Amino acid sequence: MKKVLIVGAGGVGGVVAHKCAQRPEVFGDIMLASRTRERCEAILAQIAAQPYAHPSRPLRAASVDADDVPQLVNLIKSFTPDLVINVALPYQDLHIMDACLECGVDYLDTANYEPPDEAKFEYKWQWAYKGLFKERGITALLGSGFDPGATNVFCAYAAKHHFDEIWELDIIDCNAGDHGLPFATNFNPEINIREVTARGRWWERGEWLGTDPLAWSMNFEFPGGIGKKKCFLMYHEELESLSKNIKGLQRARFWMTFSDSYLNHLKVLENVGLTRIDPVNFAGQKIVPLQFLKALLPDPASLGPLTKGKTCIGCLMKGVKDGKKRLCYIYNICDHAECWREVKSQAISYTTGVPAMIGAKLMLDGLWKKPGVRNMEEMDPDPFMADMNRYGLPWVERIEDLP
Ligand code: NDP
Repeated sequence: MKKVLIVGAGGVGGVVAHKCAQRPEVFGDIMLASRTRERCEAILAQIAAQPYAHPSRPLRAASVDADDVPQLVNLIKSFTPDLVINVALPYQDLHIMDACLECGVDYLDTANYEPPDEAKFEYKWQWAYKGLFKERGITALLGSGFDPGATNVFCAYAAKHHFDEIWELDIIDCNAGDHGLPFATNFNPEINIREVTARGRWWERGEWLGTDPLAWSMNFEFPGGIGKKKCFLMYHEELESLSKNIKGLQRARFWMTFSDSYLNHLKVLENVGLTRIDPVNFAGQKIVPLQFLKALLPDPASLGPLTKGKTCIGCLMKGVKDGKKRLCYIYNICDHAECWREVKSQAISYTTGVPAMIGAKLMLDGLWKKPGVRNMEEMDPDPFMADMNRYGLPWVERIEDLP
């Protein structure tokens, strides 16, 4: 019976806790920890009311500041988990990895490290732990959400089964859901706004090229009744690992849809300085405008009952198989209202939390245990793809020959 410690009790942490609780044969003992213990208890109370709750094996709640490594080490030593699932914020990644190293416990996250005082995410800080994790005989699985996460696995699956080489990759992320609010972010507002206001970047023939934030767009016809939507080129972290790990890749880009209301509000917030991440003096104290804005915006976990509509996230790939050019599009469609019915969440947290549970399951099963620090595409994609169909994120693939 395996034990798992989930750190972070936000929108994604809630989904991970629900999905792990649904699989007691894998996750025998679950602890949910966050700085605010009440957040964990509220999620555990929701789970206790579900048909999959096990009264004889209740989930546990704990309070921990994951930036305080000795405190986290004490919690890990007292609970002795087989795996720590980090669904707190990217700022905590290195601290949680340090604690896992000290305790000799496997690690999984859904977003790469970002220094709090600079809106920049890069794998270099976490890849620097490769040797340490390998020597300790433990595995760190990076980016086991949807994008990064399932998108990396879609590429690995296509590379294994449908291509000799993938030449072009477009990851296209559409949230066609509507929560009816003028402005809200569907995952942590601070991380979301830092990501969206960054310069666009893509990989082309061995170099990184850039654009101003949200300066390039294209129209894409989404399946599942969603229809045509405008998508904006952005930089996203999986491009960094995929450009290294996918054989023959010549171009890799990432696109995301935004509603006009979201973009208009964001522009105004930027223009008035509320998205700044440098501290400013206010009423005798220093505040970071973006952190203040986060305090005003709706908690992403509260959007669950309000959001209707679907998401569609997928990988559009072009390349060659047996000398013939082909296109392959692999995608998942997820319905916000169905996610709410199942685990009391909207689809963005759901599409992140389910792959985190699946990655954790494969690590605990031993199928994805490979000491070192790993990106998702380095693992065998087949069991992950099978589990996506089994556990709530069914995918579709479309393959066409190209002239
Ligand atoms: P939330 O803001 O809803 O939740 C974050 C949680 O982390 C909160 O419960 C917070 O609670 C806890 N937390 C923050 N700091 C600490 C700390 N020092 N120690 C312990 N707990 C802490 O965010 P989301 O749930 O929306 O996102 C979670 C993660 O998922 C983020 O890293 C995000 O980037 C990632 N993500 C990944 C996606 C993917 O597809 N790969 C998509 C969407 C999100 P408290 O304040 O009580 O500590």
